[in-house]
Amino acid sequence: MKRIYLDYAATTPTDPEVIKTMEPFLFDKFGNPSSIHSFGQEAKKAIEDSREKLALFLGAKPEEIIFTSGGTESDNFAIFGVAYALEKKGNHIITTAIEHHAVTEPCKFLQKRGFKVSYVSVDKFGLVSPQDIKKTITDKTILISVMHANNEIGTIQPIAEIGKIARGKGIYFHTDAVQTVGHLPVQVNELNVDLLSLSAHKFYGPKGVGAIYIRKGTRIERFLHGGDQERGMRASTHNTPGIVGLGKAIELCQDKMQDEADFQIRLRDKLIKEMPNKISEVCLNGHPTKRLPNNINFSIKYIEGESVLLNLDMLGIAASTGSACTSTSLEPSHVLLAIGLSHEIAHGSLRISLGRWTKEQDIEYFLEHLPKVAEKLRAMSPLYEKK
Ligand code: PLP
Repeated sequence: MKRIYLDYAATTPTDPEVIKTMEPFLFDKFGNPSSIHSFGQEAKKAIEDSREKLALFLGAKPEEIIFTSGGTESDNFAIFGVAYALEKKGNHIITTAIEHHAVTEPCKFLQKRGFKVSYVSVDKFGLVSPQDIKKTITDKTILISVMHANNEIGTIQPIAEIGKIARGKGIYFHTDAVQTVGHLPVQVNELNVDLLSLSAHKFYGPKGVGAIYIRKGTRIERFLHGGDQERGMRASTHNTPGIVGLGKAIELCQDKMQDEADFQIRLRDKLIKEMPNKISEVCLNGHPTKRLPNNINFSIKYIEGESVLLNLDMLGIAASTGSACTSTSLEPSHVLLAIGLSHEIAHGSLRISLGRWTKEQDIEYFLEHLPKVAEKLRAMSPLYEKK
């Protein structure tokens, strides 16, 4: 059976070139980078090369990059690290209603320990207003955390503008850039951020490795206590193959990113244009233009996203109803509710995300089969009355 992967926002395959670059570090060059002998030193050099590649992509200094186990750890590090370093200065954090759980859960945890967290709402496109952030700032605000682009609906936030406001008030600004790094230009100085999270498996690198950018001079508590790896900022033996893979992956993205984005935007917009011609009562979720090049999110009225997903899977098509982390829960996505969808419409949502190996024919196959699936499910739906 044909298998078509349209779920690149959940994870991407590791690029074969990345795998080739990682392989020597699993056996021949297996040394512990903290060891002073030659085995250790060749691993250390490879890690420092990766750090430089990532720093170059971000317009950062290599010493401002800390390697982590992925996006979740980087988000937790940013939030707990700043909260604990600055708790004597203030106890107020500002974030938004549509962040990934890797941001909202640490915030909720801090609330149980006396911190105050404001979850700023978004408009119907999922956009947060910089002025709303500004209005929420108090003299106790120590951190603002706003994601660069949303993983479910793809909306890209005005990060540079929010960063300017934060800087003007002397408040640290973190962005979760897990969905943008490797897909869009991400320059820490243009975005005015002090902290930024990223994850290799979202840009054709391996799973279980990521990084956090921490602007020089930022006051932050270390997150993992133990050895003095990463200049004492993050204990634990380095994941050398993973870090080498991350470095190669970001280098490939640097070369391919613009062409890939142009191609994906063409396919994305074709899908956005064609869907309402093929299925009645569908609506696009997220912003029509300020959205990730690879993201399409639709609600199809009168049917359940989960049923669509299962039927598509039987046809070999992999898509998503939202964030993979919550796809086992039956609660509608907090992001779709935050943009004002009713529970019923939110339950009928479908996310399609494109990537390096998506072909035009994949989109055609999807456009051919989705209307049939929708028709079949609507025929069984008591809510649906054919117009
Ligand atoms: N933040 C966003 C926006 C994400 O999309 C994800 C993963 O889906 C994460 C954080 C978590 O990243 P990781 O899977 O590397 O822990």
